[in-house]
Amino acid sequence: LPEQEAFDIEYWLLEEAKLQRMPKPKSLAGRIALVTGGAGGIGQAVARQLLQEGACVMLTDIDSEALAQAKEALRKVAGPDNLATVRADITSEEQVETILNASALAFGGLDLLVSNAGIASSAPFEETSLALWERNQSILVTGYFLASRGAYRMMQQQKLGGSMVFVASKNGLVASGGAAAYCTAKAAEIHLARCLALEGAAHGIRVNVVNPDAVIRGSRIWDGKWKEERAASNKIDSDDIEDFYRQRSMLKRSVLPEDISEAVYFLLSEKAGKSTGNIINVDAGNAAAFTR
Ligand code: NAD
Repeated sequence: LPEQEAFDIEYWLLEEAKLQRMPKPKSLAGRIALVTGGAGGIGQAVARQLLQEGACVMLTDIDSEALAQAKEALRKVAGPDNLATVRADITSEEQVETILNASALAFGGLDLLVSNAGIASSAPFEETSLALWERNQSILVTGYFLASRGAYRMMQQQKLGGSMVFVASKNGLVASGGAAAYCTAKAAEIHLARCLALEGAAHGIRVNVVNPDAVIRGSRIWDGKWKEERAASNKIDSDDIEDFYRQRSMLKRSVLPEDISEAVYFLLSEKAGKSTGNIINVDAGNAAAFTR
């Protein structure tokens, strides 16, 4: 090669190498996200990923002690000004207003919602009390309605579009024994997301769903009664529950909170800019077929 040309190539390769080493721009930089149920296993994993992608995160939960612990844990990935928390009950219209005002005050608005606060409860159908039924509807349906309506109104006012993800459940598609109240509420969440997607499209607001199947590690739902009830209903020892779900799945893999946050992040981001009213099942194959 002539000397000048060789020099040019070497210079260009060096510049390329420098570019490779430069930090990639964060995909959610400047975006403001609200995560409900943020003290729980899935909520925390989602918040961590959104913070790592550059978003400002407003974390909310009904459990103030667990919320403070989540904030402490997330400090490691959050900057000084991009994480705020507010304790609120998602079933209260006034308290949902408080969350939205807190987001506006802390960060100036809202672009992304992860509606995720939830419970799990179980009872044979004939023993399902009205109170149990209403608790499921209240937290899982009314709670998702109030959070998304509040976020929707704020996004409409901002005129900047937005993106929401509902963390529903595989049980919103596939019935599970002894959990009619929960399954019915989760099915309603999925349909609410579709209705909102239809109305939101004209405003550039996308709404999608992530359906986890049993996420046992990290989830507070599985700390308590639900684990015992599911174990009893499947006639297994509660210590074997994770193995049971893993073996039952097509992929023979356990679903982790981080698997859910990957799907939530994808749907929130512009990578999924042409998806709305859609569902991603993160369930190791369980919604498609039972292997036993
Ligand atoms: P988790 O119990 O760890 O987290 C849920 C959080 O929601 C808790 O911190 C709880 O305090 C909060 N919460 C409950 N009621 C509330 C209310 N009224 N207002 C505000 N916050 C409230 O559970 P998780 O596994 O992280 O579950 C998150 C979501 O995923 C839930 O909607 C759940 O139904 C869904 N899901 C979980 C699984 C699983 O196996 N873990 C499977 C399918 C779907």
